[in-house]
Amino acid sequence: MDELVRLLSKFIKTVAIRLPDDVLAALKALSSNENSYWGKAIYSLMFDNIKLALEKGVPVCQDTGVLMFFIDVGTKFPYINVLQEAVTAATIKATEDVPLRPNVVEPFEEKNTGNNVGTRLPWIEWNILSNADYAEIVLYLAGGGTSLTGNAKVLPPASGFKGVIEFVLDVVSGYGLNACPPFLLGVGIGTTVETAALLSKRALLRPIGSTNPNPKAALLERIIYDKVCGLEIGPQGLGGKTSVLGVNVEYSARHPATLAVGISTGCWAHRRGVIKIKSDLTYELPLYRGVVL
Ligand code: SF4
Repeated sequence: MDELVRLLSKFIKTVAIRLPDDVLAALKALSSNENSYWGKAIYSLMFDNIKLALEKGVPVCQDTGVLMFFIDVGTKFPYINVLQEAVTAATIKATEDVPLRPNVVEPFEEKNTGNNVGTRLPWIEWNILSNADYAEIVLYLAGGGTSLTGNAKVLPPASGFKGVIEFVLDVVSGYGLNACPPFLLGVGIGTTVETAALLSKRALLRPIGSTNPNPKAALLERIIYDKVCGLEIGPQGLGGKTSVLGVNVEYSARHPATLAVGISTGCWAHRRGVIKIKSDLTYELPLYRGVVL
């Protein structure tokens, strides 16, 4: 248990202070395409920020968010029974050690708990894998500004994908600035608001540069990408042609009478990390080449 908590708290620290390899590569590619004066200045500040955070071992953004874990765990993973306890203990430890900003407020008391743990937080989404003996854990640090953009709506199916695109553009042009562009846009499509919203969040967990395997969903990603770029929001909203790290669409089959759409954004400091922990507590960090915990 002690080793599991140590490993998870170090993993949380890595996610807080270091951008994953795919996000860093995407930011570099965007910065080389940006021509606006302020856009170039903002990218330069971002890369200074990223470098200093690593050198000093401090969070890449002061808002270290609310911790959300998406856990795929095998039924034969030896620590399955204590994993939730370990995640909670690691959250408290990382809050002290890194430190992370205490961001968890109990809504009816209006009181900050001080340790990033509260009612149903850290948030955990579970997926059980039959007969597997490992756990794959995705951690997403959901910052305030980037979460403010979130929205979901149930459209009548007659709205079609035109309605989906209009809703996305409405939301992004209204609140997109809060998500510290260039942002990653997750779009979920399903039956109900909560399933579409959850799918939009899961869309943010996909590698940047990946496309939905369904060619029609991939086309929708491309269309939304082009239209959002056309808004010329630019880095940090100061104008420019690079506003978007990517557009990821995830979907489920839906009820014939509904077309639900969910929207989530991830900011330029898209702190989403993955760790695969094996039964002997050895691990892999696929998004952080060369990092040892
Ligand atoms: S949107 Fe992201 S980069 Fe901007 S303040 Fe929030 S967490 Fe930090």
